[in-house]
Amino acid sequence: MTAVGTGRFGAVLNRIEKETAELRERGCPADYIPGLAGADIRRFGMAVAEPDGTVYGVGDWRTPFSTQSITKVFALALALSLEGEQIWRNLGREPSGNPFNSLVQLEYENGVPRNPFINAGALVVTDRLQSLTGDAAGQVRDLLRAESGNPAIDFVPEIAASEAAHGDRNAALAHFMASYGTIANPVPGLLAAYFRQCSIEASCADLALGASFLARRGVREDGSALLTPSQAKQVNAVMLTCGTYDAAGEFAYRVGLPGKSGVGGGIIAVVPGVCTLCVWSPGLDRRGNSVAGVSALDRFTTLTGLSVF
Ligand code: GLU
Repeated sequence: MTAVGTGRFGAVLNRIEKETAELRERGCPADYIPGLAGADIRRFGMAVAEPDGTVYGVGDWRTPFSTQSITKVFALALALSLEGEQIWRNLGREPSGNPFNSLVQLEYENGVPRNPFINAGALVVTDRLQSLTGDAAGQVRDLLRAESGNPAIDFVPEIAASEAAHGDRNAALAHFMASYGTIANPVPGLLAAYFRQCSIEASCADLALGASFLARRGVREDGSALLTPSQAKQVNAVMLTCGTYDAAGEFAYRVGLPGKSGVGGGIIAVVPGVCTLCVWSPGLDRRGNSVAGVSALDRFTTLTGLSVF
């Protein structure tokens, strides 16, 4: 059940909102997807969801934004729940140290992507989900709807179309992997599913609630298990090591939590057993992470003393 209130961390959130104000002048929105380029970098929202479904936040915490790569976490969780270890057949789980859309490593490593959170790896996950369910993007959307209790969460066709129109890099990754047999579905349909998945809009409240199964050892909002406790640990571990592009080391150093960012300016983070967080502010640093978002999470773990370390 989803409740709205001011829970245990309400005062901390208010303080973080004030302390990060001047950072909301910094960074640039993603401009390689024209549909995202116009986002206002002064927007800021942050939400906390506690394991019992209580959710609260500050600023624009109820405003939907483009989730982009944050959806990679939900796609991976679904694929793991459906086929377990098989998902790692053509997929690594090491940090790449390269930009999220890099092609270079793929050739050295025979078409097998380093991890599920760079674009090549996410395409492998979406490919598996597409084979297993016939509607990868719909499955991701429906999981988010169910876990957040918000049936209005949906794709934004204009954003998907904008990305498709400028999607040469992702198309190159997909075709390259197809040449190695790493992916099974025809590339055009796979790209369409991936762009739809990335175009999902949701708010900080939706995403903090949506990711709560990762703080509850894999248990969904309705009490059923999406993942085993061990699988939930695995997803959190890959988020910690690979979830924030080629800045995952810096994010672990500053924040000390499993996290996943997206170029829409959102970041989710998990304090296992305690809460999930989502912060949004569209100004990105040069590696693609929200400037104010990373700082807000850094302040959260510093002020509360909560981290996985
Ligand atoms: N749809 C974006 C892309 O594939 C997602 C990137 C991101 O958020 O990291 O380029």
